[in-house]
Amino acid sequence: MDLRNTPVLVVGAGIMGAGIAQVAAQAGHAVKLYDTRAGAAAEAKAKLAATLEGLVAKGRLEAAAAAAAVARIVPVSALGEAADAQLVVEAVVEKLDVKRGLFRELEGIVAPSCVLATNTSSISVTAIANGLAHPGRLAGMHFFNPVPLMKLVEVVSGLQTDAGVAAAIFELAKAWGKVPVHAKSTPGFIVNRIARPYYAEALALLLERAAEPAALDACLKAAGFRMGPCELMDLIGHDTNFAVTQSVYEANFFDKRYQPSLVQREMVDGGLLGRKSGRGFYRYGGGAGGGGAGDGAAGAPAADTAAPAAPPGAHEVTVHGDGPIAELLEAAATQALAGHGWGPARDRGSAWTGLRIDGARLMLSDGRTAQQVAAAMAVADVALFDRPLVLPPPPGTALAFAVAPQAGDAWRAQVPGWLAALGFTPVPLADSPGLVVTRTVAMLVNEAADAVLQGVCTPAGADAAMKLGVAYPAGPFEWLARWSPGGAAAGGGAAAVIGVLEALDAHYRGERYRVSPWLRRQQAAAQ
Ligand code: NAD
Repeated sequence: MDLRNTPVLVVGAGIMGAGIAQVAAQAGHAVKLYDTRAGAAAEAKAKLAATLEGLVAKGRLEAAAAAAAVARIVPVSALGEAADAQLVVEAVVEKLDVKRGLFRELEGIVAPSCVLATNTSSISVTAIANGLAHPGRLAGMHFFNPVPLMKLVEVVSGLQTDAGVAAAIFELAKAWGKVPVHAKSTPGFIVNRIARPYYAEALALLLERAAEPAALDACLKAAGFRMGPCELMDLIGHDTNFAVTQSVYEANFFDKRYQPSLVQREMVDGGLLGRKSGRGFYRYGGGAGGGGAGDGAAGAPAADTAAPAAPPGAHEVTVHGDGPIAELLEAAATQALAGHGWGPARDRGSAWTGLRIDGARLMLSDGRTAQQVAAAMAVADVALFDRPLVLPPPPGTALAFAVAPQAGDAWRAQVPGWLAALGFTPVPLADSPGLVVTRTVAMLVNEAADAVLQGVCTPAGADAAMKLGVAYPAGPFEWLARWSPGGAAAGGGAAAVIGVLEALDAHYRGERYRVSPWLRRQQAAAQ
């Protein structure tokens, strides 16, 4: 089955349908565009013509190519005018009964060989196909917004989707210049499912007043994410994000792992929807940040430091651990102490990564709280810092830290100074397990691992989907491979991520932090 150059019908001329029609026309297809709202298809075509003219004016598109693409799009006022279609892409309202009804009607119009594709972002493809005479010919073709720019297409197979149909849509998406990834029809498919913890962990930290939104955003942006979770939720709209979270939660039979947050519901109920309403976690259109759930919480990030500060006084500094983070600490400590005429010692065989500074410890988070670590080591002066994901981190990188409640005042006062001397912008956090980046990335990895366990996608598919669909700086399995010095090949990544998740689970109890059996298998296989 080859769908390239076949006549295409796009149903629904809204944001997504117009984009899909543009991409298909630019790839050379004859495209018919239909919408139940009279005039909507013609309006979408006119808008698209203006967009392409804009690209021509900027020199990014040949005038002839733009004109040809526009000419290939024909608005139709009845589905019957598109009986010759060999592919229908549906992008109508997100309602199961509407989509089902549409496809049933289409089966009476198009040839039995015509492939049916739905752009649904949350409805089961299996459910949409239920009741069709030929359910095998229906698959998901899930584009991302804006369609002409976003490379990812999730090709979603329901229970009855023919493998040949999914393969044909996959090849077609490639021919349209996209990067397709196969997915099984499960709630949220790949991207909307694996991304849940990016929001959920931030909301959990806000709920327990561990930090303000600006602090969380600063930490995750420093880890390479293009936008922090709070500003991203403000951009998406809290109503939309809450609805997606709720639909994934309900579709998973109220699995606590996906439970929506009170913080977000309160904001939706109050009309604090983010950018579109002028206020979410931040204020827009005048007035300075802060607000919403973050009111009164501790810990906005300090401004970026221009140069590393001088380290607080110490007699002895030892860098503990092996691997890239220990190397980074050694280089930074060496530089920081050089002006004082001495340098750090090194203990590569240590069970932990970080700095021993006289009797105190500045340690990389392993998922436990600083209080727990201090108690386990029988050392009061303990502080934990978050996992730097970008190595080496650019100077002034925001990094969360927490000090054990047992610690003395002198050590508590010194910790930010040491982190600044090592080149970071210290971001104080309440003593929450896994700080910010550590717990968020561990949960993203865990969710991706479960998706692979359930056959939703492959590890490579998950990595591609998260990088292209939501612009993550790396894929979850790439993070897993880098997590520990041994790497995934040694099973070290899985062991370390499991350690973080188990620490979170022990702290909070409940279902949210249960470890994916896929990670346990990885760990066992490496032993
Ligand atoms: P939209 O509201 O911009 O457009 C929907 C269009 O469908 C409207 O023009 C409406 O008149 C038309 N319509 C409604 N019922 C119809 C019917 N029975 N037949 C023909 N036309 C009909 O919505 P959108 O954002 O383009 O979303 C469309 C689909 O794409 C939804 O399933 C949505 O979940 C999915 N989606 C949206 C995004 C996004 O970011 N907007 C991303 C991925 C997928």
